[in-house]
Amino acid sequence: MSNEEGKRQLCMVIDLNKCIGCHTCTIACKLQWTNRNGRDYMYWNNVETQPGQGYPRDYQQMGGGFSSPGALRAGIEPRKEDYGTPWEYNHDELVSGDAPPWLRPGTKPDWGPNWDEDEGAGEYPNTHYFYLPRLCNHCSNPSCLAACPRQAIYKRQQDGIVLIDQERCRGYRYCISSCPYKKIYFNEKISKSEKCIFCYPRIEKGEPPACAKQCVGRIRFVGYRDDQEGPIYKLVDKYKVALPLHAEWGTEPNVFYVPPGSPPRFDANGKISSEPRIPMEYLEQLFGPDTRAALDTLESERRKKAARQPSELMDLLIGYRHGDLFKLDREAEHPRA
Ligand code: SF4
Ligand code: SF4
Repeated sequence: MSNEEGKRQLCMVIDLNKCIGCHTCTIACKLQWTNRNGRDYMYWNNVETQPGQGYPRDYQQMGGGFSSPGALRAGIEPRKEDYGTPWEYNHDELVSGDAPPWLRPGTKPDWGPNWDEDEGAGEYPNTHYFYLPRLCNHCSNPSCLAACPRQAIYKRQQDGIVLIDQERCRGYRYCISSCPYKKIYFNEKISKSEKCIFCYPRIEKGEPPACAKQCVGRIRFVGYRDDQEGPIYKLVDKYKVALPLHAEWGTEPNVFYVPPGSPPRFDANGKISSEPRIPMEYLEQLFGPDTRAALDTLESERRKKAARQPSELMDLLIGYRHGDLFKLDREAEHPRA
């Protein structure tokens, strides 16, 4: 985050305790930006089940980001199959005969976005999963930007949104292999890279990104990191309950996650233990060493609220009003001299 005059950072916080995996956010994004013109296969916003392979498949093992400050870590580009190819449903055959459903002519699909949805991990009665919505993190130290030999990728001064200058892009795809989150996509139709633009035309009108506005669970908060009265500062810096995904990749993401709590595990004798159902080591692998402290804070504030004591944090996370989720009126809150 920078506090330099004229240089601010827009952020998003996503509360994983409230995501119901409805994909409304994904569809809002797709209808707005990626259902045409060579972008059809892209999901700038996706919601994946974790533990799971993610989207594109096994992206966490594809490298990218930084191995140390300033040193790009080698990464690979996903293959087409890792994104998944849409298939045709054979409704006519299915109705008229005994053909198995959803066969593309001559093939049986074995992967697609959300192929492993709701599978999760663990053995009964300790099975578990949660939903992880993902989009470009509009990083403060974007490895996509560092890797581009054309200087086609830039961060906007006024809000830190990371964009690709389509005039400068030559489709070399170094950005795709260098983004560890695999949130840049190649558009074969125009031979250029494309990515989430944080709905900047909406931002410029004071509206949040479509994924956040349409979110059924009201789990997404959008605002400037340095706005101390806004939801981002409170969740990330004041209460420290919102954490970046894979901070160790070194790109300084600006999408943060409130990690998911879970019911207790059953021990080998079928008794309730003191360990959470979702293993802490697994959550720490995603959200870092502060995960336990964040979950402890959430639990103690939840208890306060249950005891009818005031809790600013719980009131904020409940998201009573859209106005509490989104604070975008930067000039009104931070009038410039
Ligand atoms: S998430 Fe990837 S594409 Fe987005 S700014 Fe960070 S490095 Fe670049
Ligand atoms: S719209 Fe909201 S609740 Fe539904 S999947 Fe997306 S982030 Fe989760």
